[in-house]
Amino acid sequence: MATKKKWEYSPAPESKQPAAIASRYELFINGKWQKPSSGNYFNSINPATEEKLSEIALAEEADVNKAVQAARQGYEKYWKKISPTERGKYIFRIARIMQERARELAVTETMDGGKPIRESRDFDIPTAANHFFYYAGWADKLDFAFPNKKANSLGVAGQITPWNFPLLMAAWKIAPALATGNTVVLKPAETTSLTTLKLAEIIQEADLPPGVVNIITGAGQTGALLTKHTDINKIAFTGSTEVGKIIQRTLAGSSKKLTLELGGKGANIIFEDAPIDQAVEGVINGIFFNQGHVCCAGSRLYVQESIAKIFIKKLKDRIGTLLVGDPLDKNTDIGAINSAQQLKTIQSFIKIGKAEGASFYESDCALPKKGYFCRPSLFTNVAQSNRIAQEEIFGPVLCILTFRTDDEVIEKANNSPYGLSAGIWTDKGARIFNISKRIRAGVIWANTYNLFDPTSPFGGYKESGFGREGGLQGLQPYVQLS
Ligand code: NAP
Ligand code: MG
Repeated sequence: MATKKKWEYSPAPESKQPAAIASRYELFINGKWQKPSSGNYFNSINPATEEKLSEIALAEEADVNKAVQAARQGYEKYWKKISPTERGKYIFRIARIMQERARELAVTETMDGGKPIRESRDFDIPTAANHFFYYAGWADKLDFAFPNKKANSLGVAGQITPWNFPLLMAAWKIAPALATGNTVVLKPAETTSLTTLKLAEIIQEADLPPGVVNIITGAGQTGALLTKHTDINKIAFTGSTEVGKIIQRTLAGSSKKLTLELGGKGANIIFEDAPIDQAVEGVINGIFFNQGHVCCAGSRLYVQESIAKIFIKKLKDRIGTLLVGDPLDKNTDIGAINSAQQLKTIQSFIKIGKAEGASFYESDCALPKKGYFCRPSLFTNVAQSNRIAQEEIFGPVLCILTFRTDDEVIEKANNSPYGLSAGIWTDKGARIFNISKRIRAGVIWANTYNLFDPTSPFGGYKESGFGREGGLQGLQPYVQLS
């Protein structure tokens, strides 16, 4: 049944002008913008309009070699020798310039990736700057981070990021690497390189010594070349489990350190004593935040049977009020799907869910004529063994299952190849502690969902990867203790 719109808003679009996107971006190697050896470029488009935003240099083998060599020289000549206090000052400078250019970064992130401006403005960009502030503070305090040990830098870190939180993932990777005295070669995702290239401009503006941070752009092949390079000491990868496994195979037998942040299928658990309206908001935030392009999304919802009927009704009502459309509009809740390819993947999972016999419900909102958009939706009557309950959809599609007892929901929540995140909604503190101890997930939120802080470590179990980013634990993958 069609849900009546509760509110209508006048359009409130943010101006595109602050983005100041150049028509072409080169590779950032050794502190300079350099043309790719092949002379090839690829386009970055706006997924909300399908318009070309810019063209970006494609790094091939010679460029990857050049970037790694620059990072090695940057390490030996400068970064290794600079005092930790000075290192910290550089990182603080990056954070401050990010804040100064926050609006430009937010508008660019939204245009390049499709996420609502409200999110890039209020979450992605400030959280990315906060990561630099946080790790800048650690640069001269490593002796306190690792008492009675000496934290030695590793050398050159090769880093690869995904398209769902482009600038934030670059910050999660670059900030701890620099704070611990390593230099970096980073490759952003092909569809969302622009804010990382702007971060390279900021690094240039902050006057970091040449070669300390190098940004090379390209597709998966460029990333693969980076992981295979023999003069790299550490690889940090965030992306799909499939590519994570390829990288693990590539690195087997080498001395490179590795951290993998991979996919997820987060269980969000609602007990009958939960504050229902708050929990409905939490579920909405858990799955529809950033179009469901979130590795730790609460994409598997477990509702206690006694409240399932009312809970699902409230969820459907709320889904009907979500505004899908222009990501630059400040009222928009759900922006554009990142690429035509990802939209196809989501649509194919919706087909699979229907064929598996689950009941499908979606908002009846209108979608823009151009661009890649998807209505928020949910499946009920889902079985634990269904593909839609086991595999990562990475879109605004929620799967709802029910349970009766604590033991049952723990077993179901843990019955997943992933172990990245979970949520628990209940009035009882003791139940929160009991359940969270027994659920195998790296992050567990209680009576909230999708909250992040630079001081808090993040990472997974099982096929969600290993290693932690954020917090004191996020320093560890970048040091050798002696
Ligand atoms: P992806 O296809 O694995 O790509 C991730 C990055 O790896 C991109 O920069 C990609 O380049 C590059 N790449 C592709 N093939 C490669 C190869 N053979 N060797 C080295 N690098 C390669 O993942 P995605 O589709 O961008 O991102 C979505 C996935 O990331 C989801 O599964 C999500 O759960 C996961 N994710 C996890 C976390 C976490 O912290 N656990 C955070 C965010 C996202 P191109 O883009 O140019 O192909
Ligand atoms: Mg793009």
